[in-house]
Amino acid sequence: MATEKKTDGELLAEKLLMKKKHAGLIMSDEEIKEAFDYCERYKSFISISKIEREAVVNTVIEAEKKGFVPFDPDRQYKPGDKVYSINRGKAVIFAVIGSEPVSEGLNIAAAHIDSPRLDLKQNPLFENEENAYFKTHYYGGIKKYQWGTIPLALHGAIVKKDGTVVNVTVGEDEGDPVFCVTDLLPHLAQEQMKRTPAELLKGEELNILIGSLPFRDDKAAEKVKLAIIKLLNEKYDIDEGDLLSAELDAVPAGRAKDVGFDRSYIGAYGHDDKVCSYTAFSALMDLKGIPERTAVVVLTDKEETGSDGNTGLKSSYLKYFVEDLADSCGSKGHRVLSKSRCLSADVNAGFDPTFPDVLEKRNCAFMNYGVCITKFTGARGKSGTSDASAEFVAEVRRIMDEGNVIWQTGELGKVDLGGGGTVAAYIANLDVDTIDIGTPVLCMHAPFELVSKLDVYQTYKAFCAFLK
Ligand code: MN
Ligand code: MN
Repeated sequence: MATEKKTDGELLAEKLLMKKKHAGLIMSDEEIKEAFDYCERYKSFISISKIEREAVVNTVIEAEKKGFVPFDPDRQYKPGDKVYSINRGKAVIFAVIGSEPVSEGLNIAAAHIDSPRLDLKQNPLFENEENAYFKTHYYGGIKKYQWGTIPLALHGAIVKKDGTVVNVTVGEDEGDPVFCVTDLLPHLAQEQMKRTPAELLKGEELNILIGSLPFRDDKAAEKVKLAIIKLLNEKYDIDEGDLLSAELDAVPAGRAKDVGFDRSYIGAYGHDDKVCSYTAFSALMDLKGIPERTAVVVLTDKEETGSDGNTGLKSSYLKYFVEDLADSCGSKGHRVLSKSRCLSADVNAGFDPTFPDVLEKRNCAFMNYGVCITKFTGARGKSGTSDASAEFVAEVRRIMDEGNVIWQTGELGKVDLGGGGTVAAYIANLDVDTIDIGTPVLCMHAPFELVSKLDVYQTYKAFCAFLK
């Protein structure tokens, strides 16, 4: 077959214009298989790490197997040493000391391990018409109507007055019961359907049904509530007052699933932001040899409620860690921070062909087009963004291309349509060069979110390239 000669225009376009392609058309068969295999590791992690406390426990278990030990600020560290530092059981920092002095700066990847959910109120247990319920206060930005009529599991901890911590997980094992927020049948929903979607299920209607059998005693009041607290007492050795000092979260029950005949997507609760947390964390675990710059992975809490609180990244815990690390290496914390660079790792909105109008197609993330890099976030006139410098973007482009990472750029939504922020600004405020990066997601903040396996793998590769 005769090959037609390319025209000048075609040659010039090849030379000067950017080309975008589906990762499935770029990756080799072998690499696609690697991606699918890697995603099995991720699916296992996300299925058992639904809340921040569990993500901390599960990452620390894996890290200890790889030789990580608790960070001791009074010790001197040498290249190749591996340490971790837990913040109140809800955030954790992992670090591998590099061959360059710490004073030359750190490579930091930061992601969050909390996800939107229904938290129990402090005084949650009540009975209404012989059903027992837990009152909830939703955590993070959710479409409340999505959380009715789905199986919910309960995760968290109850802390008794003497400090005993009782860990709770109900609804995940095959034989476990689950819980449910009830909704109205369509036949009787005429009035409900006139409500605005934000109020289809109102905040105070997100009550979780937890039982209906009474304690058999004619004289006792609220017999169903009594029977439930009796069960809780038998199982956890607690009374109603102990629920005052508890953090119990209702999350969608069940494990991560492959989605699609071709199994190209993973459906799960909490991809935002376990997908970036796990890819960053596992890249650090899989490091071969000693990295040049000290490599740090921060898994933080409270991003979904604005990063406030002592386990969120508006607090000083990362700064204190870096100061301690700098001290133990004979440097100054602020100097280390000024020379550090950070990938603020959080998911981005993937283009959904069913809802094309909310994204600007030249500047949004597409599913299966690789990890997404975002120079700035922010609402309206970039309000609240740290906006990475062009110099740092150029550096990140180089790192990604040298690591053969398939990557794209994208902004979350059209200008003035909404938007969202991440932890980037709080790390940049420590004088660290910071940019947003993350996996594109469909149905973000829904009980069942979707990511592409190829994108997950490219996100992992991005962290491997950055942290090495
Ligand atoms: Mn997020
Ligand atoms: Mn989020």
